[in-house]
Formats: sequence, C-alpha cells, structure tokens
Amino acid sequence: MNAKIIDGKAFAEGLRGRLATEVAALKAQHGFVPGLAVVLVGEDPASQVYVRNKAKQTSEVGMASFEHKLAKETGQAELLALVERLNADPKVNGILVQLPLPKQIDPQAVLDAIDPAKDVDGFHVVNAGKLATGGKALVPCTPLGCLMLLKDRLGDLSGKRAVVVGRSNIVGKPMAQLLLGESCTVTIAHSRTRDLPGECRRAEILIAAVGKPEMIRGDWVQPGATVIDVGINRIEREGKTKLVGDVAYDEAVKVAGAITPVPGGVGPMTIAVLLQNTLTAARRQRGLPA
Ligand code: NDP
Repeated sequence: MNAKIIDGKAFAEGLRGRLATEVAALKAQHGFVPGLAVVLVGEDPASQVYVRNKAKQTSEVGMASFEHKLAKETGQAELLALVERLNADPKVNGILVQLPLPKQIDPQAVLDAIDPAKDVDGFHVVNAGKLATGGKALVPCTPLGCLMLLKDRLGDLSGKRAVVVGRSNIVGKPMAQLLLGESCTVTIAHSRTRDLPGECRRAEILIAAVGKPEMIRGDWVQPGATVIDVGINRIEREGKTKLVGDVAYDEAVKVAGAITPVPGGVGPMTIAVLLQNTLTAARRQRGLPA
C-alpha cells in the first residue's frame, strides 16, 4: 500500500491563516503590528525570489514588511551598521539577512550581530544554545516546520526511534535537538556514518537533510516509517529541469507509512514558520505570552 502523502503546502496555508487571525487580534487588543525586516545583499536570482515571497507572505498575514536591498559591493561595516539600526528599531521585531552573502562579508559576523531576541532564523549562537539546553529559543524555521508536520501526523513522538541524516547547523543539528526535546531516541547520521542504509532502516521517523538527489533508497526505509524529505535538488531528467528530494520518492512511497513530497512537502513550511517566529519574537519583546 502506498504511503500517506504529507501535504506541507496545505499545512502551511492553514498556519498562515491562523497567524493572520492572531496578528489581527494583537492589533485590536494591543495596538501594534509585528514587523519583519529582510535584508538582501546583491542580486542572486534565487535569493531575490525568496525575499519577494517572504515580503509578500509577511504582508498577507497582516504584518509589516521592511525590505532592505543593498548593492553587491556593500562592505561588512555598512551591513553591520544596518543590522545595528534594525536591532534598535522598535517597529522591527524580526531580522533576517538572506544567505548567501557576497564574498567580502563574513556571514558569521553578521549573524552574531543580530539581536538574539530578533533572530527569527534562529541561527544566533544564543538561540542554538537555548535550543540545546531546553530554553525559550527562536528555532530555525525548516526543522521547526518538519516537527510540526511530524506532530500533526503522529501526535506524541515520545520514545520513537528517529534518524536524522545530515548534521548542518541550519537543519540537521536543530532537527535532532527538537526530536530529543520530544523524547525521541535520536541518531544523527552524516557522511562518515558506517552502514547508512542499516541506520536508516532502524528509523520509525526518518529525516533526510543531505542535499544529494534521491540518495536514500526505498529499501533503506522501514515499512510504515514516517519520512520527512528536506532535500531540494535540481536535476535534469528527460530534457527537463526537475526538483527532487534526498529520498527516492517513487520507491519510498511504496514502503513508508507517510512521506513528504518534493516539491510541496517541507519547502512551503519554511516561510510560514518564519512568520510564526516573527509573531513569537514580537510577543516576547512586548512581554506577552508566546
Ligand atoms: P549541508 O550541505 O550544510 O549539510 C549536508 C549534510 O549532509 C552534512 O552534514 C553532510 O555530512 C551530510 N552528507 C553529505 N553527503 C552525505 C552522504 N553521502 N551520506 C550521509 N550524509 C551525507 O546542507 P543543508 O543542511 O543546508 O541542506 C540539506 C538539504 O536541505 C539541501 O538539499 C538543501 O537544499 C535543503 N534545504 C531545504 C530547505 C527548505 O526546505 N526550506 C531549507 C534548508 C535546506 P558531513 O557533515 O559529514 O559533511
């Protein structure tokens, strides 16, 4: 029997609807509107699309959107000065600096300069530390979106065997921390893992965040497992450009209990969770429960 398809697009739409209602209530009860500032340096075409989508969806849920587009020659000092201004601006509750940055700018220096209370990407070391120690962190958007899809599908995750393939700071590590926080038994696999297929087969929850098209085969998946495919890979097939995940979907769908497709699975969750993080940040900055 084929797996149930986890529809991230529909889930993200529902989440944005709930956020719009909360933003309207915040405005009515407390007279303020959360604001998100997005900073883009240079003209990377993919980044331009992301920034446009972020701004559009921010406005659609009723939040204020502040776009800062800087020339590709912008120096680090100038960008840091802008981050300082945004840190001090009470209308800005969340700050996102779109990566990658041009070569002359050290991305870590910029991420470190963002006020952790406004770090809606959750990449600041203070937020990474809070996530690791069970504090009130702002959590990276993609893994938090994966967790929402998992909880919606499975309910209580306590005691489940989870395998996360990938250990990046933006996806793999925070994903593993979140699953540990839900009392899963977590294995983190990476490029040096011995017998990756065997590790994957033990997973009741399998998260693929590798960046290698269709690397995880159907016979690596435990029958009935829930598979979350974070990978976004562009490949050429039959003369067409196609988006595929890190999981061989056509094989895995026959074995898994539930699976996210690519596109339409994890991808749409990321911006919706960014908006949720902005609302959370705004509420905390105002001393409201979040
Ligand atoms: P990184 O390149 O930073 O990390 C990839 C990880 O995969 C590394 O930990 C690496 O291990 C591991 N890896 C690489 N090759 C293998 C292998 N052969 N076997 C086992 N592990 C391997 O990628 P990201 O975490 O940033 O992204 C992962 C994927 O998720 C990408 O396809 C990216 O496009 C996608 N993505 C999607 C998002 C969304 O849906 N919105 C957001 C962010 C990412 P090691 O550490 O040992 O090198």
